[in-house]
Amino acid sequence: MKHRFTGILILALLFMAGNNYAQQIVEGLLYSTGKSVKIEIRDGKIESVKPVKKLSDPENKLYVAPGFFDNQVNGFAGVSFSFGGSDLTPERIEKATRELWKKGVTSYLPTLTTNGHDLLVKNFKILAATVKDEKLLGSIPGFHLEGPYINPEDGYRGAHPKQFVSIPDWHKFMEMYMASGEKILQVTVAPEIEGVQDFIRKCTDMGIVIAVGHHNANEEQLNLAVENGARIATHLGNGCANMINRHRNPLWPQLANDNLMISIICDGFHLLPEEIKVFYSVKGPDKTIITSDVTSYAALESGVYKTQTGETIELTPEGMLRYPEQNVLYGSASAITKGVGHIMEVTGCSLANAVQMASTNPADLYGLKDRGSIEAGKRADLILFSIENSEINIHQTWVKGEKVFDSEDD
Ligand SMILES: [Zn+2]
Repeated sequence: MKHRFTGILILALLFMAGNNYAQQIVEGLLYSTGKSVKIEIRDGKIESVKPVKKLSDPENKLYVAPGFFDNQVNGFAGVSFSFGGSDLTPERIEKATRELWKKGVTSYLPTLTTNGHDLLVKNFKILAATVKDEKLLGSIPGFHLEGPYINPEDGYRGAHPKQFVSIPDWHKFMEMYMASGEKILQVTVAPEIEGVQDFIRKCTDMGIVIAVGHHNANEEQLNLAVENGARIATHLGNGCANMINRHRNPLWPQLANDNLMISIICDGFHLLPEEIKVFYSVKGPDKTIITSDVTSYAALESGVYKTQTGETIELTPEGMLRYPEQNVLYGSASAITKGVGHIMEVTGCSLANAVQMASTNPADLYGLKDRGSIEAGKRADLILFSIENSEINIHQTWVKGEKVFDSEDD
């Protein structure tokens, strides 16, 4: 009788271990306080966060933070979300996601930039079908559409192909929105182009976050966009002509408007340290988001590449991605992770502030209450990392309570 009971008990334990019912524990130095904590996880969620006197492995002093949330990912590791064709398949979307997990990115918005309407619709459909896949563990909560309703002029347009830049067309936008499974969470537009203010109001009414970017809006146009609902400036300081008037340019109104958040690319190439410092001083940690604008060229060999729309671009050995024809950057080749270390180095901000700008603020902006902080009830999207010479080194990544990356296994 006793043996039979033991047998049942072992079976029950095995069953629990094989399911999410088993409790998991992550220990580390909490990013916001530097104090040792034990985080208990059950069913993919954080069950409790408890202070501990010391870690079970005192040698292993790693920080623990909520995973990073990148709101502008054009592609990664050879996979492009914008250009589709044979490039965009469920397997390759999963590949990009797994590579991002290795960098500590547990949530991201695949970003589709200005392109032909049919291709955008097609890609949104492929993405919408794929993100429901359990294997992705809910890492893709939605999408960012950057363009095509932007300023067509060289410089402001950046690397967006001119032939597809247009004024807003609500019918076509709704086609994309429905194709996305109603998951376009953000649209980046230029406030000064015809019909945009009305478009901003309609999107805001639907709960879609409007960002301003690739624009040359004056103060009046910019402030009107914010009154109509625009909430954030996309990669402030980029998507702007090289030669601008020292008084009348699009930067001042965006910095001056206290109701506008900003996203900034902190990869060490897109902005000078003094620009990051000034932008951060003006907006502060509550109104700044670190983004990457990372492209499919991330994690590839340096060299000259031909893009799918025919531009010749160059990835330098230092990781800068250039579009020599217009002497502008073509996007980034670094994950958001680099930006977290870089902004701390440049501004002297705390780790708590840097993580707020890379995890908490984007989750809040899109109203995603299930992620972005370490609290009971939130998704167990956690990263364990060290910081050396202002560089974040990811040791472990957990997504929805599952350990998806361990540097010791890699
Ligand atoms: Zn852009």
